[in-house]
Amino acid sequence: MRYISTRGKSAAQSFADVLLSGLAPDGGLFMPESWPRFSPSEIAAFKDRRYAETAVTILRQFVGDSFTPDELESDVDAAYARFDDPEIAPLVPLGRNQYLLELFHGPTLAFKDVAMQVLGRLFARALEKRGGRATVIAATSGDTGSAAIAALGGLPSVELFVLHPHGRVSEMQRRQMTTSAHANVHNIALNGSFDDAQGIVKSLFADDDFSKRANLSAVNSINFARIAAQSVYYFTAAARLSAPPVFVVPTGNFGDVFAGEAAMRMGLAVDRLVVATNVNDIMVRTLNDGVYAAGEARPSLSPSMDIQVASNFERALFEASGRDTDYVRVAMSEFRNNLRLQIPPSILGALQTRYAANRADDSETISTIKKVHSETGKIVDPHTAVALAAAHKYGGREGLPLVILATAHPGKFPDAIEAAIGQKPPIPDRLSSLLELPEKLTVLDAKLPLVRAYIEARLAHHES
Ligand SMILES: *Cc1c(COP(=O)(O)O)cnc(C)c1O
Repeated sequence: MRYISTRGKSAAQSFADVLLSGLAPDGGLFMPESWPRFSPSEIAAFKDRRYAETAVTILRQFVGDSFTPDELESDVDAAYARFDDPEIAPLVPLGRNQYLLELFHGPTLAFKDVAMQVLGRLFARALEKRGGRATVIAATSGDTGSAAIAALGGLPSVELFVLHPHGRVSEMQRRQMTTSAHANVHNIALNGSFDDAQGIVKSLFADDDFSKRANLSAVNSINFARIAAQSVYYFTAAARLSAPPVFVVPTGNFGDVFAGEAAMRMGLAVDRLVVATNVNDIMVRTLNDGVYAAGEARPSLSPSMDIQVASNFERALFEASGRDTDYVRVAMSEFRNNLRLQIPPSILGALQTRYAANRADDSETISTIKKVHSETGKIVDPHTAVALAAAHKYGGREGLPLVILATAHPGKFPDAIEAAIGQKPPIPDRLSSLLELPEKLTVLDAKLPLVRAYIEARLAHHES
Protein backbone atom coordinates (compact mmCIF):
# COMPACT_ATOMS: atom_id res chain seq x y z
CA MET A 1 0.00 0.00 0.00
CA ARG A 2 1.30 3.44 -1.00
CA TYR A 3 0.09 6.85 0.20
CA ILE A 4 -0.57 9.94 -1.86
CA SER A 5 -1.11 13.56 -0.86
CA THR A 6 -4.53 15.25 -0.97
CA ARG A 7 -2.79 18.11 -2.81
CA GLY A 8 -1.22 15.90 -5.45
CA LYS A 9 2.31 17.32 -5.41
CA SER A 10 4.18 14.78 -3.28
CA ALA A 11 5.58 11.43 -4.42
CA ALA A 12 3.79 8.31 -3.15
CA GLN A 13 5.22 7.00 0.12
CA SER A 14 5.18 3.89 2.28
CA PHE A 15 3.24 3.45 5.52
CA ALA A 16 6.44 3.85 7.57
CA ASP A 17 7.20 7.16 5.81
CA VAL A 18 3.68 8.39 6.45
CA LEU A 19 3.83 7.29 10.07
CA LEU A 20 7.14 9.06 10.71
CA SER A 21 6.43 12.29 8.85
CA GLY A 22 2.73 12.93 9.51
CA LEU A 23 2.21 15.73 7.01
CA ALA A 24 2.92 15.40 3.27
CA PRO A 25 5.77 17.60 1.94
CA ASP A 26 3.34 19.62 -0.23
CA GLY A 27 1.34 20.60 2.86
CA GLY A 28 -1.41 18.09 2.10
CA LEU A 29 -2.53 15.04 4.07
CA PHE A 30 -1.61 11.48 3.19
CA MET A 31 -4.31 9.12 1.94
CA PRO A 32 -4.11 5.49 0.82
CA GLU A 33 -3.81 5.15 -2.95
CA SER A 34 -6.94 2.99 -2.80
CA TRP A 35 -9.11 1.72 0.06
CA PRO A 36 -8.87 -1.91 1.11
CA ARG A 37 -12.28 -3.64 0.99
CA PHE A 38 -13.88 -6.04 3.47
CA SER A 39 -16.85 -8.16 2.43
CA PRO A 40 -20.06 -8.31 4.52
CA SER A 41 -19.15 -11.81 5.71
CA GLU A 42 -15.64 -10.75 6.73
CA ILE A 43 -17.17 -7.84 8.65
CA ALA A 44 -19.79 -10.05 10.30
CA ALA A 45 -16.97 -12.31 11.54
CA PHE A 46 -15.49 -9.41 13.55
CA LYS A 47 -18.39 -9.89 15.98
CA ASP A 48 -16.77 -12.88 17.65
CA ARG A 49 -13.15 -11.78 17.55
CA ARG A 50 -10.98 -10.05 20.12
CA TYR A 51 -10.65 -6.32 19.46
CA ALA A 52 -6.88 -6.60 18.92
CA GLU A 53 -7.39 -9.35 16.36
CA THR A 54 -9.81 -7.22 14.32
CA ALA A 55 -7.39 -4.30 14.59
CA VAL A 56 -4.57 -6.44 13.15
CA THR A 57 -6.80 -7.67 10.31
CA ILE A 58 -7.66 -4.11 9.30
CA LEU A 59 -4.28 -2.50 9.90
CA ARG A 60 -2.48 -5.26 7.98
CA GLN A 61 -4.10 -3.87 4.82
CA PHE A 62 -2.58 -0.45 5.52
CA VAL A 63 0.96 -1.19 6.69
CA GLY A 64 2.05 -2.90 3.45
CA ASP A 65 5.58 -4.19 3.81
CA SER A 66 6.60 -1.58 6.40
CA PHE A 67 6.06 -4.13 9.20
CA THR A 68 5.80 -7.92 9.20
CA PRO A 69 2.51 -9.47 10.36
CA ASP A 70 4.27 -10.62 13.56
CA GLU A 71 5.59 -7.13 14.30
CA LEU A 72 2.16 -5.62 13.79
CA GLU A 73 0.45 -8.21 15.94
CA SER A 74 2.95 -7.85 18.74
CA ASP A 75 2.58 -4.04 18.84
CA VAL A 76 -1.20 -4.09 18.64
CA ASP A 77 -1.44 -6.71 21.40
CA ALA A 78 0.91 -4.75 23.65
CA ALA A 79 -1.03 -1.52 22.98
CA TYR A 80 -4.39 -2.94 24.02
CA ALA A 81 -3.00 -4.91 26.97
CA ARG A 82 -2.85 -1.54 28.77
CA PHE A 83 -6.62 -0.95 28.56
CA ASP A 84 -8.78 -1.45 31.64
CA ASP A 85 -11.67 -3.14 29.80
CA PRO A 86 -11.06 -6.46 28.03
CA GLU A 87 -13.40 -5.39 25.22
CA ILE A 88 -11.23 -2.28 24.64
CA ALA A 89 -14.17 -0.38 23.05
CA PRO A 90 -17.30 -1.77 24.75
CA LEU A 91 -20.71 -1.03 23.25
CA VAL A 92 -22.95 -0.20 26.21
CA PRO A 93 -26.76 0.02 25.84
CA LEU A 94 -28.12 3.41 26.91
CA GLY A 95 -31.78 3.35 25.88
CA ARG A 96 -33.98 1.71 23.28
CA ASN A 97 -31.75 1.05 20.27
CA GLN A 98 -29.21 3.57 21.64
CA TYR A 99 -25.67 2.73 22.63
CA LEU A 100 -22.57 4.39 24.00
CA LEU A 101 -19.37 3.24 22.33
CA GLU A 102 -16.94 3.71 25.23
CA LEU A 103 -13.53 4.72 23.92
CA PHE A 104 -11.97 5.91 27.17
CA HIS A 105 -10.51 2.74 28.65
CA GLY A 106 -6.88 3.50 27.76
CA PRO A 107 -4.13 4.93 29.96
CA THR A 108 -5.16 8.61 29.64
CA LEU A 109 -8.93 7.99 29.68
CA ALA A 110 -9.78 9.57 26.32
CA PHE A 111 -10.30 8.04 22.89
CA LYS A 112 -6.94 9.32 21.60
CA ASP A 113 -5.26 6.33 23.32
CA VAL A 114 -7.00 3.83 21.05
CA ALA A 115 -4.87 4.97 18.11
CA MET A 116 -1.92 6.55 19.91
CA GLN A 117 -0.94 3.44 21.88
CA VAL A 118 -0.57 1.55 18.60
CA LEU A 119 1.04 4.47 16.79
CA GLY A 120 3.67 4.99 19.53
CA ARG A 121 4.83 1.39 19.32
CA LEU A 122 4.94 1.31 15.51
CA PHE A 123 6.68 4.68 15.53
CA ALA A 124 9.45 3.40 17.82
CA ARG A 125 9.83 0.30 15.68
CA ALA A 126 10.02 2.26 12.40
CA LEU A 127 12.57 4.62 13.89
CA GLU A 128 14.67 1.73 15.14
CA LYS A 129 14.65 0.12 11.68
CA ARG A 130 15.64 3.34 10.02
CA GLY A 131 18.08 4.58 12.65
CA GLY A 132 18.33 8.18 13.82
CA ARG A 133 16.20 10.37 16.04
CA ALA A 134 12.88 12.14 15.64
CA THR A 135 11.44 15.33 17.05
CA VAL A 136 7.72 14.92 17.55
CA ILE A 137 5.62 18.06 17.82
CA ALA A 138 1.99 17.85 18.84
CA ALA A 139 -0.56 20.61 19.20
CA THR A 140 -3.29 19.56 21.60
CA SER A 141 -6.71 20.83 22.59
CA GLY A 142 -6.41 18.66 25.69
CA ASP A 143 -6.27 14.94 25.07
CA THR A 144 -3.81 14.35 22.22
CA GLY A 145 -0.99 15.70 24.39
CA SER A 146 -1.39 13.27 27.23
CA ALA A 147 -2.03 10.37 24.84
CA ALA A 148 1.18 11.22 22.95
CA ILE A 149 3.10 11.46 26.22
CA ALA A 150 1.72 8.09 27.36
CA ALA A 151 2.77 6.59 24.02
CA LEU A 152 6.15 8.27 23.39
CA GLY A 153 7.39 9.39 26.83
CA GLY A 154 10.70 7.73 27.65
CA LEU A 155 11.51 6.52 24.11
CA PRO A 156 15.27 6.94 23.70
CA SER A 157 15.20 8.19 20.10
CA VAL A 158 12.38 10.75 20.42
CA GLU A 159 12.12 14.29 21.78
CA LEU A 160 8.46 15.18 22.29
CA PHE A 161 7.15 18.76 22.36
CA VAL A 162 3.50 19.27 23.26
CA LEU A 163 1.82 22.64 22.73
CA HIS A 164 -1.43 23.30 24.58
CA PRO A 165 -3.44 26.53 24.89
CA HIS A 166 -2.56 28.00 28.30
CA GLY A 167 -5.50 27.88 30.73
CA ARG A 168 -7.85 26.36 28.17
CA VAL A 169 -7.58 22.68 29.06
CA SER A 170 -9.09 21.12 32.18
CA GLU A 171 -6.90 20.81 35.28
CA MET A 172 -6.85 17.03 34.93
CA GLN A 173 -5.93 17.26 31.26
CA ARG A 174 -3.09 19.66 32.11
CA ARG A 175 -1.77 17.52 34.95
CA GLN A 176 -1.80 14.42 32.74
CA MET A 177 0.73 16.22 30.53
CA THR A 178 2.78 18.28 32.96
CA THR A 179 3.41 15.60 35.58
CA SER A 180 5.29 13.34 33.16
CA ALA A 181 8.66 12.47 34.66
CA HIS A 182 10.24 11.60 31.31
CA ALA A 183 13.15 13.82 30.30
CA ASN A 184 12.18 13.66 26.60
CA VAL A 185 8.78 15.31 27.26
CA HIS A 186 8.54 19.11 26.93
CA ASN A 187 5.26 20.90 27.65
CA ILE A 188 4.70 24.34 26.17
CA ALA A 189 1.66 26.28 27.39
CA LEU A 190 0.89 28.83 24.67
CA ASN A 191 -0.80 32.14 25.35
CA GLY A 192 -3.42 31.59 22.65
CA SER A 193 -5.96 29.12 21.33
CA PHE A 194 -5.61 25.58 20.00
CA ASP A 195 -5.75 27.00 16.46
CA ASP A 196 -2.73 29.19 17.28
CA ALA A 197 -0.89 26.07 18.48
CA GLN A 198 -1.88 24.08 15.40
CA GLY A 199 -0.87 27.01 13.18
CA ILE A 200 2.59 27.13 14.76
CA VAL A 201 3.06 23.38 14.32
CA LYS A 202 2.11 23.69 10.65
CA SER A 203 4.57 26.58 10.19
CA LEU A 204 7.37 24.58 11.80
CA PHE A 205 6.73 21.81 9.29
CA ALA A 206 6.65 24.30 6.44
CA ASP A 207 10.11 25.54 7.52
CA ASP A 208 12.07 23.11 5.35
CA ASP A 209 15.44 23.77 6.89
CA PHE A 210 14.26 23.40 10.48
CA SER A 211 12.01 20.49 9.67
CA LYS A 212 14.84 18.48 8.07
CA ARG A 213 17.41 19.38 10.70
CA ALA A 214 15.13 18.37 13.55
CA ASN A 215 13.65 15.38 11.71
CA LEU A 216 10.18 16.65 12.56
CA SER A 217 7.21 14.41 12.92
CA ALA A 218 3.52 14.97 13.70
CA VAL A 219 1.37 12.56 15.65
CA ASN A 220 -1.72 14.78 15.53
CA SER A 221 -4.89 13.41 14.03
CA ILE A 222 -3.51 14.44 10.63
CA ASN A 223 -1.26 11.35 10.89
CA PHE A 224 -2.97 8.73 8.74
CA ALA A 225 -1.93 5.91 11.07
CA ARG A 226 -4.34 7.34 13.64
CA ILE A 227 -7.23 7.40 11.21
CA ALA A 228 -6.55 3.77 10.26
CA ALA A 229 -6.47 2.65 13.90
CA GLN A 230 -9.63 4.61 14.72
CA SER A 231 -11.59 3.03 11.90
CA VAL A 232 -11.44 -0.29 13.78
CA TYR A 233 -14.06 0.54 16.44
CA TYR A 234 -16.62 1.51 13.80
CA PHE A 235 -16.31 -2.06 12.50
CA THR A 236 -16.41 -3.77 15.91
CA ALA A 237 -19.47 -1.74 16.96
CA ALA A 238 -21.43 -2.19 13.72
CA ALA A 239 -20.64 -5.92 13.59
CA ARG A 240 -22.61 -6.36 16.83
CA LEU A 241 -25.74 -4.61 15.60
CA SER A 242 -28.42 -5.99 13.34
CA ALA A 243 -28.85 -2.93 11.10
CA PRO A 244 -26.51 -0.23 9.71
CA PRO A 245 -26.04 2.24 12.58
CA VAL A 246 -26.03 6.01 12.80
CA PHE A 247 -22.77 7.05 14.49
CA VAL A 248 -22.79 10.34 16.41
CA VAL A 249 -19.28 11.69 16.85
CA PRO A 250 -18.07 14.53 19.11
CA THR A 251 -15.96 16.46 16.62
CA GLY A 252 -13.07 18.91 16.68
CA ASN A 253 -10.35 18.27 14.12
CA PHE A 254 -12.60 15.89 12.12
CA GLY A 255 -10.18 12.97 12.58
CA ASP A 256 -12.45 10.63 14.49
CA VAL A 257 -15.50 11.13 12.29
CA PHE A 258 -13.37 10.80 9.15
CA ALA A 259 -12.26 7.40 10.48
CA GLY A 260 -15.97 6.54 10.16
CA GLU A 261 -15.89 7.58 6.50
CA ALA A 262 -12.78 5.42 6.07
CA ALA A 263 -14.68 2.43 7.51
CA MET A 264 -17.55 3.08 5.08
CA ARG A 265 -15.14 3.23 2.15
CA MET A 266 -13.73 -0.11 3.27
CA GLY A 267 -17.17 -1.64 2.95
CA LEU A 268 -18.88 -1.02 6.31
CA ALA A 269 -22.62 -0.30 6.07
CA VAL A 270 -23.33 2.89 8.04
CA ASP A 271 -26.58 4.85 7.76
CA ARG A 272 -25.13 8.24 8.62
CA LEU A 273 -22.24 9.94 10.42
CA VAL A 274 -23.54 12.74 12.62
CA VAL A 275 -20.92 15.41 13.34
CA ALA A 276 -21.52 16.91 16.80
CA THR A 277 -19.83 20.15 17.83
CA ASN A 278 -20.01 22.66 20.66
CA VAL A 279 -20.30 26.40 19.90
CA ASN A 280 -17.12 26.05 17.86
CA ASP A 281 -19.30 24.89 15.02
CA ILE A 282 -17.30 25.40 11.84
CA MET A 283 -18.12 21.86 10.69
CA VAL A 284 -21.83 22.22 11.38
CA ARG A 285 -21.96 25.40 9.31
CA THR A 286 -19.89 23.81 6.57
CA LEU A 287 -21.95 20.66 6.26
CA ASN A 288 -25.31 22.44 6.49
CA ASP A 289 -24.61 25.64 4.53
CA GLY A 290 -21.57 24.84 2.40
CA VAL A 291 -19.41 27.62 3.81
CA TYR A 292 -16.18 26.52 5.50
CA ALA A 293 -15.30 29.67 7.44
CA ALA A 294 -13.14 29.93 10.57
CA GLY A 295 -14.07 32.29 13.39
CA GLU A 296 -12.46 32.82 16.79
CA ALA A 297 -12.18 29.67 18.91
CA ARG A 298 -14.30 30.10 22.04
CA PRO A 299 -13.63 28.24 25.31
CA SER A 300 -16.32 25.71 26.25
CA LEU A 301 -17.04 22.89 28.69
CA SER A 302 -15.82 20.43 26.03
CA PRO A 303 -12.32 21.88 25.50
CA SER A 304 -11.01 19.07 23.28
CA MET A 305 -13.39 20.36 20.59
CA ASP A 306 -12.59 24.09 20.91
CA ILE A 307 -11.28 24.21 17.38
CA GLN A 308 -12.07 26.42 14.40
CA VAL A 309 -9.93 24.84 11.71
CA ALA A 310 -10.80 21.17 11.26
CA SER A 311 -7.64 19.90 9.52
CA ASN A 312 -8.95 16.46 8.57
CA PHE A 313 -11.86 17.97 6.64
CA GLU A 314 -9.35 18.22 3.79
CA ARG A 315 -9.51 14.42 3.58
CA ALA A 316 -13.29 14.45 3.25
CA LEU A 317 -13.04 17.14 0.54
CA PHE A 318 -10.51 15.02 -1.32
CA GLU A 319 -12.91 12.07 -1.36
CA ALA A 320 -16.09 14.09 -1.99
CA SER A 321 -14.46 15.77 -5.01
CA GLY A 322 -13.63 12.37 -6.51
CA ARG A 323 -9.97 12.69 -5.39
CA ASP A 324 -9.52 15.88 -7.39
CA THR A 325 -6.14 17.04 -6.06
CA ASP A 326 -6.20 20.22 -8.17
CA TYR A 327 -9.47 21.21 -6.55
CA VAL A 328 -8.19 20.44 -3.04
CA ARG A 329 -4.95 22.37 -3.55
CA VAL A 330 -6.73 25.48 -4.82
CA ALA A 331 -9.47 25.23 -2.17
CA MET A 332 -6.97 24.94 0.68
CA SER A 333 -4.94 27.86 -0.52
CA GLU A 334 -8.13 29.92 -0.85
CA PHE A 335 -9.04 28.98 2.72
CA ARG A 336 -5.57 29.87 3.99
CA ASN A 337 -5.78 33.29 2.36
CA ASN A 338 -9.38 34.22 3.17
CA LEU A 339 -10.25 31.93 6.12
CA ARG A 340 -13.34 31.17 4.06
CA LEU A 341 -14.20 28.63 1.42
CA GLN A 342 -17.46 28.13 -0.47
CA ILE A 343 -18.02 24.43 -1.17
CA PRO A 344 -19.45 23.79 -4.69
CA PRO A 345 -22.96 22.22 -4.67
CA SER A 346 -21.82 18.91 -6.20
CA ILE A 347 -19.19 18.39 -3.49
CA LEU A 348 -21.51 19.56 -0.71
CA GLY A 349 -24.14 17.14 -2.01
CA ALA A 350 -21.64 14.27 -1.86
CA LEU A 351 -20.71 15.21 1.72
CA GLN A 352 -24.35 15.39 2.77
CA THR A 353 -25.10 11.85 1.60
CA ARG A 354 -22.72 10.69 4.33
CA TYR A 355 -22.68 13.38 7.02
CA ALA A 356 -25.27 15.25 9.05
CA ALA A 357 -24.28 17.85 11.67
CA ASN A 358 -25.66 19.43 14.83
CA ARG A 359 -24.24 21.59 17.60
CA ALA A 360 -24.89 21.94 21.33
CA ASP A 361 -23.85 24.86 23.52
CA ASP A 362 -22.67 24.70 27.14
CA SER A 363 -26.14 24.95 28.66
CA GLU A 364 -27.37 22.08 26.48
CA THR A 365 -24.25 20.13 27.48
CA ILE A 366 -25.03 20.63 31.18
CA SER A 367 -28.72 19.78 30.80
CA THR A 368 -27.84 16.63 28.84
CA ILE A 369 -25.42 15.40 31.53
CA LYS A 370 -28.17 16.03 34.08
CA LYS A 371 -30.88 14.30 32.06
CA VAL A 372 -28.79 11.20 31.31
CA HIS A 373 -27.83 10.95 34.97
CA SER A 374 -31.40 11.21 36.23
CA GLU A 375 -32.80 8.82 33.59
CA THR A 376 -30.07 6.15 33.55
CA GLY A 377 -27.78 6.79 36.52
CA LYS A 378 -24.85 7.10 34.10
CA ILE A 379 -22.42 10.01 34.19
CA VAL A 380 -21.20 11.10 30.76
CA ASP A 381 -18.38 13.55 30.09
CA PRO A 382 -19.08 16.92 28.41
CA HIS A 383 -17.83 15.79 24.96
CA THR A 384 -20.09 12.75 25.02
CA ALA A 385 -22.93 15.00 26.21
CA VAL A 386 -22.48 17.25 23.16
CA ALA A 387 -22.91 14.17 20.99
CA LEU A 388 -25.99 13.04 22.91
CA ALA A 389 -27.58 16.47 22.50
CA ALA A 390 -26.73 16.44 18.77
CA ALA A 391 -28.19 12.93 18.48
CA HIS A 392 -31.42 14.14 20.04
CA LYS A 393 -31.67 16.97 17.49
CA TYR A 394 -30.89 14.59 14.65
CA GLY A 395 -33.62 12.13 15.57
CA GLY A 396 -32.79 9.49 13.01
CA ARG A 397 -34.86 6.85 11.31
CA GLU A 398 -37.04 4.46 13.24
CA GLY A 399 -35.44 1.09 13.80
CA LEU A 400 -31.84 2.11 13.11
CA PRO A 401 -29.41 1.79 16.00
CA LEU A 402 -27.89 5.05 17.24
CA VAL A 403 -24.30 4.74 18.44
CA ILE A 404 -22.87 7.68 20.39
CA LEU A 405 -19.09 7.77 20.65
CA ALA A 406 -18.16 8.34 24.31
CA THR A 407 -14.76 9.96 23.87
CA ALA A 408 -13.63 10.73 27.42
CA HIS A 409 -14.05 9.48 30.97
CA PRO A 410 -16.14 11.91 33.06
CA GLY A 411 -13.42 11.91 35.74
CA LYS A 412 -11.33 14.14 33.46
CA PHE A 413 -13.91 16.93 33.78
CA PRO A 414 -15.03 16.95 37.45
CA ASP A 415 -15.97 20.65 37.50
CA ALA A 416 -18.36 20.41 34.55
CA ILE A 417 -19.93 17.27 36.00
CA GLU A 418 -20.40 18.91 39.38
CA ALA A 419 -22.04 21.92 37.73
CA ALA A 420 -24.51 19.55 36.06
CA ILE A 421 -25.42 17.05 38.76
CA GLY A 422 -24.22 18.65 41.99
CA GLN A 423 -21.62 16.00 42.70
CA LYS A 424 -18.15 15.16 41.43
CA PRO A 425 -17.80 12.00 39.33
CA PRO A 426 -15.71 9.13 40.70
CA ILE A 427 -12.10 9.96 39.89
CA PRO A 428 -10.10 6.91 38.75
CA ASP A 429 -6.81 6.26 40.59
CA ARG A 430 -4.90 7.00 37.40
CA LEU A 431 -6.11 10.60 37.69
CA SER A 432 -6.30 11.28 41.42
CA SER A 433 -2.66 10.25 41.87
CA LEU A 434 -1.67 13.13 39.55
CA LEU A 435 -2.82 15.71 42.06
CA GLU A 436 0.21 14.96 44.22
CA LEU A 437 2.88 15.22 41.52
CA PRO A 438 4.97 18.29 40.60
CA GLU A 439 4.18 19.94 37.24
CA LYS A 440 6.66 20.88 34.52
CA LEU A 441 5.72 23.36 31.78
CA THR A 442 6.98 26.48 30.01
CA VAL A 443 4.61 29.32 29.16
CA LEU A 444 5.34 31.03 25.83
CA ASP A 445 3.58 33.66 23.73
CA ALA A 446 2.04 32.19 20.58
CA LYS A 447 4.86 33.38 18.31
CA LEU A 448 6.60 31.07 15.89
CA PRO A 449 10.18 32.35 16.54
CA LEU A 450 9.80 31.91 20.30
CA VAL A 451 8.59 28.33 19.97
CA ARG A 452 11.24 27.45 17.39
CA ALA A 453 14.00 28.90 19.59
CA TYR A 454 12.72 26.94 22.60
CA ILE A 455 12.77 23.69 20.63
CA GLU A 456 16.20 24.40 19.09
CA ALA A 457 17.65 25.03 22.54
CA ARG A 458 16.33 21.70 23.88
CA LEU A 459 17.59 19.80 20.83
CA ALA A 460 21.04 21.46 21.08
CA HIS A 461 21.14 20.51 24.74
CA HIS A 462 20.51 16.93 23.76
CA GLU A 463 23.25 16.88 21.11
CA SER A 464 25.90 18.34 23.42
C1 LIG B 1 -9.90 14.94 20.44
C2 LIG B 1 -11.23 14.77 21.07
C3 LIG B 1 -12.42 14.94 20.34
C4 LIG B 1 -12.42 15.39 18.89
O1 LIG B 1 -11.86 14.46 18.02
P1 LIG B 1 -11.38 14.92 16.54
O2 LIG B 1 -10.76 13.72 15.97
O3 LIG B 1 -10.40 16.04 16.77
O4 LIG B 1 -12.58 15.39 15.82
C5 LIG B 1 -13.62 14.67 20.97
N1 LIG B 1 -13.67 14.32 22.26
C6 LIG B 1 -12.56 14.15 23.00
C7 LIG B 1 -12.69 13.79 24.43
C8 LIG B 1 -11.30 14.37 22.43
O5 LIG B 1 -10.20 14.21 23.16
